[in-house]
Amino acid sequence: MIVIRSTAELRRVLAEPRAQGKSIGYVPTMGALHEGHLALVREAKVRDDVVVASIFVNPLQFAPNEDFDTYPRDEERDLALCEKVAADIAWLPTADELFPPGFGLTVAVPRLSGVLCGEGRPTHFAGVTTEMSKILILLAPTAVYLGEKDFQQLVVLRAMVRDLGLPLEVRAVPTVRERDGLALSSRNAYLAEAERPVAAALFRVLSELAPKLRADTGAVAAVLAEGRAALTEAGVRRIDYLELVDGETLEPVSTVGSGNRLVAAIWVGSTRLIDNVAV
Ligand code: AMP
Repeated sequence: MIVIRSTAELRRVLAEPRAQGKSIGYVPTMGALHEGHLALVREAKVRDDVVVASIFVNPLQFAPNEDFDTYPRDEERDLALCEKVAADIAWLPTADELFPPGFGLTVAVPRLSGVLCGEGRPTHFAGVTTEMSKILILLAPTAVYLGEKDFQQLVVLRAMVRDLGLPLEVRAVPTVRERDGLALSSRNAYLAEAERPVAAALFRVLSELAPKLRADTGAVAAVLAEGRAALTEAGVRRIDYLELVDGETLEPVSTVGSGNRLVAAIWVGSTRLIDNVAV
């Protein structure tokens, strides 16, 4: 595995495989790697010739009151994990190079970015799309691998790639979970032991609601109300949203149809958790 920091070197190293017509799979991460991230790399290894995994805590996607400074960082451990799953290149870009003084670009998909997580985090997705558009143009991969765990991010980035006309495929990878169902997330490290059962209720409740929605396609409002009550009963004090949405437009739906997604964001103590299931 090659560890690269500069974009010039990244371009140089990729020039040869690109000229040989080899496919390049790209896995963006913010580090603090876990089995969810590794699943993306494994999938890329199966489908592409050269796999680039990036580790970069993107400052643009954090609001001033969020956890940019305390976000878990462990470069040595992350590089060992990239090596373990045989990533070909670990790319550790620097903020100075990606966003030099005077950087003034914004790439946004406003229609999909203001809803759901965008209501509580109004600048978040523009931070993601600004960074990702820059990286995808620079790297020009054949495919980018994204987790279904961050479903809205996946939908926003699909739309961005389509609207920019970038010649690459967006490939979604299913969510990897703990044994109790909790979706793996770097932020799970913030959870106290006593909060774990409350956190696990999120996936349990989503899993219980999905078949009910399929069985009674007109009962969306009632089933969602039941879900909110079940989360509260399990000890969740704050629910940002629990919604059934169209899987492409993210608009709420009142009757179950194909491609719908049940999505939720909750707070467990001071940790915000998101999850989603197909319906
Ligand atoms: P992050 O490091 O949180 O920015 O995540 C990097 C990528 O890993 C994103 O595409 C996430 O959706 C994906 N990811 C995060 N957690 C999981 C998980 N539990 N299962 C699958 N993919 C995940």
